[in-house]
Amino acid sequence: MINIHKYYFVENEYLYGPGKRLLLFCQGCSLHCQGCVNQHLWEFGKGQDISSDEIFNLCSDIDGITLHGGEPLDQSEELLPLVYQLKKINKTVILFTGYSYKELKLASQKKIWRLSDIVVAGRYVASKRNIYLQFRGSSNQRIYTHKGKYENYKVNDGKSVTLLSLNKNGQLNVKGFKSNNLQDILNIFTKK
Ligand code: SF4
Repeated sequence: MINIHKYYFVENEYLYGPGKRLLLFCQGCSLHCQGCVNQHLWEFGKGQDISSDEIFNLCSDIDGITLHGGEPLDQSEELLPLVYQLKKINKTVILFTGYSYKELKLASQKKIWRLSDIVVAGRYVASKRNIYLQFRGSSNQRIYTHKGKYENYKVNDGKSVTLLSLNKNGQLNVKGFKSNNLQDILNIFTKK
């Protein structure tokens, strides 16, 4: 079983990858980056258990899955069968991980990395925060595109990864990379 925080369907290429995707937030992260906005996802086993078959069955009409954190590669043994199943039917896999490739110790971690069409990798480093990078929260993080559908994928930096909107009650909705820094929020509203 895979322990997850939640999942939902998204169509937001800038934040989560091309096409219609199942966005899966894994529960548990051993990396504990300072300034991580997903600290509620650090504790292992606190989410809901879901089988890879159950997730697989949700993916028939979409482009693929985006594995997000928490840290997906901390559950690599549980996730690998799902990744195999999805690749078999030509779905794409986008992996967000705090690890670099050379840190990976398990064969299952390396296999998921290699099978993923796009890998966004590296710790979040608060001093390198940049809210105008596609997929990434800090400038040290790297994007790898492998052979396959997204081999020539063009990364398109420059838009804010934080999406702000007001709902009908006048409350602020924040999606994507969240910031408590007022200057970041002002920058989003004023950037041309
Ligand atoms: S790897 Fe991701 S989820 Fe884990 S602490 Fe770092 S930013 Fe947070």
